[in-house]
Amino acid sequence: MTEAPPKMFCANHPNIETTLRCNRCEKPICAKCAILTPTGYRCRECVRGQQKIFETAVWVDYPLIFIVVAILAYLGSLLALRLGFFIILLAPIAGGLIAEVARIVTRRRRSKRLYLVAAIAALIGCIPLGLQIILNFSLLGLIWHALYALLMTSAMYTRLSGIRIG
Ligand SMILES: [Zn+2]
Ligand SMILES: [Zn+2]
Repeated sequence: MTEAPPKMFCANHPNIETTLRCNRCEKPICAKCAILTPTGYRCRECVRGQQKIFETAVWVDYPLIFIVVAILAYLGSLLALRLGFFIILLAPIAGGLIAEVARIVTRRRRSKRLYLVAAIAALIGCIPLGLQIILNFSLLGLIWHALYALLMTSAMYTRLSGIRIG
């Protein structure tokens, strides 16, 4: 006969029996307390602790990164317009440069929302020239401009969020 394993109770709810454990601190947690993360079930305390490490942005970073990225994306789009085909090569470099400047002005503080704000700002920075191109009825210009907006924004976001491709 095998011995039944000792009963485990949730650390936060002493009346609730559970078989789950936080996979970081090993604390027993019930289904109500468990949070499913990409690496498995964790307790609230561990999830909160991790967010603090990864999210260091302060409120002033959001308007700051927005303004800086939007202006640089706009200036970049003016340059890109003269490049034609070479936009494909140079837009990702522009995105990387904008990301570096954005990191310096926000002193390398980070948060997912901050990167999202930067991506939105990059696209908004492309709007003024985009409108001008539309008013000039330049289809080719619009294609190059759209390519610039996409490649620059995705390169900037990739660099900022630290996910490197290739
Ligand atoms: Zn835990
Ligand atoms: Zn619980």
